[in-house]
Amino acid sequence: MLIFREPLEGIDRPKMPADVVIVGGGPAGMACALRLSQLVDQHNSQNPDSQLSKENIYVLEKAREIGQHCLSGALLDPRSMRELLPGFEKEAPLDAAVSKESVYFLTEKGKLKFPITPPPLRDHGNYVISLNRFVKWLGSKVEETGITIFTGFAGSELLFDGDRVTGVRTDDKGVDKQNQPKSNFEPGYDLQAKVVILAEGTRGSLTKQLVAKFDLAKDRNPQTYGQGVKELWEVPSGRIAPGEVIYTLGWPLTTKEYGGAWIYGGKDNIVSLGFVTGLDYPDPRLDPQRVLQDFKQHPLAAKLLEGAKMIRYGAKSLPYGGWWAIPPVAGNGWMILGDSAGFLNSQRLKGIHLAIKSGMLAAETAFEALRKDDSSAAMLGQFQSKVESSWIKDELWKVRNFHQGFEHGFWAGLFHTGVQQFTGGRGLHNRYPGTAGYQRMRKLAELPANGGNEAHLLGPAKGDGKLTFDKLTDLYHSGTKHEEDQPAHLVIQDTNLCNTRCVIEFGSPCQNFCPANVYEMVDDAGQPSGKRISLNPSNCVHCKTCDIQDPYQIITWVPPEGGGGPNYDGM
Ligand SMILES: Cc1cc2nc3c(=O)[nH]c(=O)nc-3n(C[C@H](O)[C@H](O)[C@H](O)COP(=O)(O)OP(=O)(O)OC[C@H]3O[C@@H](n4cnc5c(N)ncnc54)[C@H](O)[C@@H]3O)c2cc1C
Ligand code: SF4
Repeated sequence: MLIFREPLEGIDRPKMPADVVIVGGGPAGMACALRLSQLVDQHNSQNPDSQLSKENIYVLEKAREIGQHCLSGALLDPRSMRELLPGFEKEAPLDAAVSKESVYFLTEKGKLKFPITPPPLRDHGNYVISLNRFVKWLGSKVEETGITIFTGFAGSELLFDGDRVTGVRTDDKGVDKQNQPKSNFEPGYDLQAKVVILAEGTRGSLTKQLVAKFDLAKDRNPQTYGQGVKELWEVPSGRIAPGEVIYTLGWPLTTKEYGGAWIYGGKDNIVSLGFVTGLDYPDPRLDPQRVLQDFKQHPLAAKLLEGAKMIRYGAKSLPYGGWWAIPPVAGNGWMILGDSAGFLNSQRLKGIHLAIKSGMLAAETAFEALRKDDSSAAMLGQFQSKVESSWIKDELWKVRNFHQGFEHGFWAGLFHTGVQQFTGGRGLHNRYPGTAGYQRMRKLAELPANGGNEAHLLGPAKGDGKLTFDKLTDLYHSGTKHEEDQPAHLVIQDTNLCNTRCVIEFGSPCQNFCPANVYEMVDDAGQPSGKRISLNPSNCVHCKTCDIQDPYQIITWVPPEGGGGPNYDGM
């Protein structure tokens, strides 16, 4: 029987007072900590008689090492970094400045190069980076300030007092598969904080609790997502210039799916290559990891990768919903940053600079809250106003209807993009509605049994072991590890539904959309369908897709024991 991770009852948890707790040490969380430290230092040098302390400012990061769970393309738009650390280029790990861009529309064997690069995809002035190395560097800057980063600690629950967020509980360590304490059990801490800042990245688990508790998604468009599957390749020298950027649209996707590929030339002949598939495709048999394998067989990619070696793999979801899907970002005791809020420009496939800027604005708000000893909704609400009067809004407002324009397929999407381009993002209406991606998944009975035009996207990739890989081979290259003896952190509300309805109605799409083979339907003669769900939680790369995309919305991703997860390096 599957046993799921649940909060243990009757445990006496140590309490720790805190001024500010930042949950998540990605670009948003690290930028927030760094800016807060700058403001405290500035205040202390100007006010020798009323010093503020940094001792009780904490960052919680579930990865064992800083940056280990961060995965991105990645091209860095340096705008916010220049505001945070002027001259950062001199010391940050930047692989290459963008030197050349091209955009292609692909058919199965052919390619059509766009005569000019569409303005949103012009990347001159940006840098090719590895996000996890960049965040590691940012983290070292935070540590130099004296702010404590607790790595290997996940925020597992929010603490409330009425309608106020009063802190964060960290994960219990040493809990066995039956959800019982082991001999090495260590209870989580209750960090009782004046200000809690959620910077958990895409589909944050505490953010989800907060959004549900205060109904923060009310009146907003539903958040929509994509899943990016990425491989790093070492290619023969001279194959691609450092700083060369290629985007593709079209094949292997058909006009019913949303997405595209990127290829970024880094330093030392390393190429970042990946495919983002919108998590709003109709056919539940579609497998995003297979989409990447299909893409690599196109002559454009196959030629680049001939004689090359795949060295790393990973996957992650990203929020696509844009401005209309962003919930209120501040309230009584809390703020939400970066991808957790949905600050991502899906037209440009860029969110790092927005995550950093949101972290800076939240830090300015938290600083005022500490100075005035007031973290009420009125005080922290200033973060909302700061976002709305900053360039975050300017940038996101212009693409507020972008992704929704593609709800009726690729050609309709191009039409809406064109109209939006000439109307400052408005298009045909000021606010295009959105649909949650899982609601667009259709039942098998409504789809051609042989997959029709989508057949090549469906089911698992077999892989030839050279250019293409099956999921387990890819997964091996993510370095993923978890403590094995712990309850499953993919909490399924009703496994009966998986075994009786989902398997028949949708063909168990979790087996397809999970990029890490966590979900399997195994034979079980005792079930009417002859199948039963089984989990391999240790494989999980924390992409959050199952929490987003399961058609019945019965899967909740909760953090596993801190320290477990992928071991991304160079991703
Ligand atoms: C495939 C892909 C390609 C992309 N390409 C680009 C690009 O080229 N350029 C660009 O600008 N943007 C790109 N993005 C988007 C960009 O990566 C994100 O917008 C950015 O990383 C968001 O930063 P963040 O700090 O909000 O979240 P993240 O980078 O996700 O960091 C969140 C951190 O919080 C930690 N965490 C989460 N939950 C908890 C918890 N409960 N307790 C403790 N720790 C927790 C995570 O381990 C992680 O370290 C891409 C995204 C993807 C997925
Ligand atoms: S189990 Fe869920 S979060 Fe983990 S890799 Fe699979 S889809 Fe992603």
